[in-house]
Parts: sequence; C-alpha cells; structure tokens
Amino acid sequence: MPALPTKPLAIRRKSRQIMVGSVPVGGDAPVSVQSMTTTLTADVNATLQQIAQLTAAGCQIVRVAVPSQDDADALPAIAKKSQIPVIADIHFQPKYVFAAIDAGCAAVRVNPGNIKAFDDKVGEIARAAKDAGVPIRIGVNAGSLDKRLYEKYGKATAEALVESALWECSLFEEHDFRDIKISVKHNDPVVMINAYRQLAEACDYPLHLGVTEAGPAFQGTIKSAVAFGALLAEGIGDTIRVSLSAPPVEEVKVGQQILESLGLRKRGLEIVSCPSCGRAQVDVYKLADQVSAALDGLKVPLRVAVMGCVVNGPGEAREADLGVASGNGKGQIFVRGEVIKTVPEAQIVETLIEEAFKIASDMGID
Ligand code: SF4
Repeated sequence: MPALPTKPLAIRRKSRQIMVGSVPVGGDAPVSVQSMTTTLTADVNATLQQIAQLTAAGCQIVRVAVPSQDDADALPAIAKKSQIPVIADIHFQPKYVFAAIDAGCAAVRVNPGNIKAFDDKVGEIARAAKDAGVPIRIGVNAGSLDKRLYEKYGKATAEALVESALWECSLFEEHDFRDIKISVKHNDPVVMINAYRQLAEACDYPLHLGVTEAGPAFQGTIKSAVAFGALLAEGIGDTIRVSLSAPPVEEVKVGQQILESLGLRKRGLEIVSCPSCGRAQVDVYKLADQVSAALDGLKVPLRVAVMGCVVNGPGEAREADLGVASGNGKGQIFVRGEVIKTVPEAQIVETLIEEAFKIASDMGID
C-alpha cells in the first residue's frame, strides 16, 4: 500500500493583528495563553500576588473583574505593577470602561449581552480606546446572551453567539474602530466549535478561544483540550483561556500543555510514561508522579521517558532525551539514546532528576 502523505495542521487563519499591551494577538503572532484572577480586584496586593504567580507559570495576558468602583479604583496600581498586560473585564457599567482605559489597562472586555447601557456610548468608548491605543474584546457568553437573541433563536445557539458578536462589532465599526478581538464562549464544546468556525468565516478579527464554565479541573481540561484542539488544528484561534473551577495557575498549565501538544508552542518538560500493565516490574504511576513533581517548573525542552518494563521501555527511553526502562528491580538509565548506567529501583528517581539537572545545566538553564 502506498504511504499516505502526512498532513500538517491547517494553515493558520489570517486574522488582523492587535496589540494587547506588549503581546501581539492575531496575524502571525504565536497563540498566547491567558487567565483571569480570582481575587477581589480591589485588593491590590492579593491581585498582584496572584498575577505574579500566573506570570511565573507562563501566563501572558491576565484579566481582572471590575464589578465595582473600588475595583475600578484599583486598576491604575494593578496595571502599573503587573508584569503582563492587564485586561479589565466589564459588564453593565460603561463608566468603568473609561476608568480602565485611563488606568492604563492593556485592553477592555465588554459583553454585548449585558451592556445595553453601552449602545449609546459606543462612539465615546471607541474614541477613548482609539486615542489610548487600547483594544476591546467583544466577549459573548452563552450564559449572558442578549435577550433579543434568546427570543430569536430560543437558546444560545452557535448562530446566536456569532450574531451577537458581529452586531457588537458593527457598532464599533460604525465609529471606524476595528481594534477588536472576539470570543463566543459556550459550555458545550460542539456549540463552541461551530460558533468559532462561523466567526472565522465571517470576519478577520483575532479570536480568543474559550469553553465557558467548563467545570472542575478534570472535566474542564478535557472539554477545553478537545474544543481548542479541534479549532487550533483547523488554524482557528489566536489566544486561549482555559476556564476551570480550580486555581487559575492550573488554567495556565493546561493552556500551555494544549499548545505544546499541538506543536504550537515549543515543548517544555514532557513526561512520556507508560500506562503500566501486567508486565510492569516497578510502580510506574509512582515513578512518573515523583519524576514529574521533582522536575515541575524546570524550564527545559526535555522529554523524559518513564517505562515499566523491557517491552517498549528501551525503545521509548532511547528516543527520549532522558529515560528509564525498568525491570528486575533495576532501571536502565538512558541519556540521549545511550545507556549510561543501570541503577537499583530505589535510585531511579534520584538518578533521573540528577541527569535532568545536568542536561539543563549543559543547556545553560538553571
Ligand atoms: Fe506494560 Fe511494559 Fe508497556 Fe509499561 S512498557 S505498558 S509495563 S508493556
């Protein structure tokens, strides 16, 4: 049978590029990862502390909620001290949009579903945003869809989400404002995928991908990975936010892992571990967990194979940068394809960690 050609991921959809502070979104910019703080925004110290944790985890853009005047008052300090661009998330109150722009926020998110009061202020907002070079995210959410569209479609369909977004865009376009990115989030990945596909056809604005209210960490990770994976493989998506009922650092880790898995971001640490089976001669789960925990945060593009027996072990360990093929109470340690030593089972983890740090140091990375 003739070999079938390998198909690469689809060519990225051509979107216009906007700048969210120092981070380009859209065009040929790498897909960025963002998250949202869970602190009270008015608590400047707590919010900045969480932003610092998110930044350290690799978050590139952070969003903060602005539901009150106290939160709006906190924005200048947060925008000034944050190391990554800050987006102000605003519902209901147009006055906070102006406060966020004045505060130096890198962008503002508005929701067409609950900004009725915004409609007659769009011109003013567009002017203020344009003068400050601040883009607007039009963030449609199934849970807060415009009542008019609920009545028209009966529920938050993909078409309803897209119509809401494009209608809001048209209001800004009337004022010659196109510094926009869009999200159309739904908790059902199938509806969400369809909505983004339609949006990708209908406009050239950069798209912020999100499955809203995706659920607790396990379910939310899977829903987001499936939905983002489908869209990104089609070339759709310019920035992503994984929404989890879990600490936001977890969202960033999942987001990065999704991009790494698709080859859209340089791989960092990757643990290749077998699922174990009746042939396993060591506790693979424990080994993989211990190695993974010990190397967490090591910023090295390193593939580490943790394998339970000699069936697939040597093959995978040889292909990895570093690996172990276990058997008979021992582990054969591989570094870049060569067996460098065989150690007793009790020393497998410490040996892998030691070798990982040696490789990192050879690469000039601490
Ligand atoms: Fe089973 Fe060995 Fe494969 Fe692990 S490497 S799943 S122990 S056959």
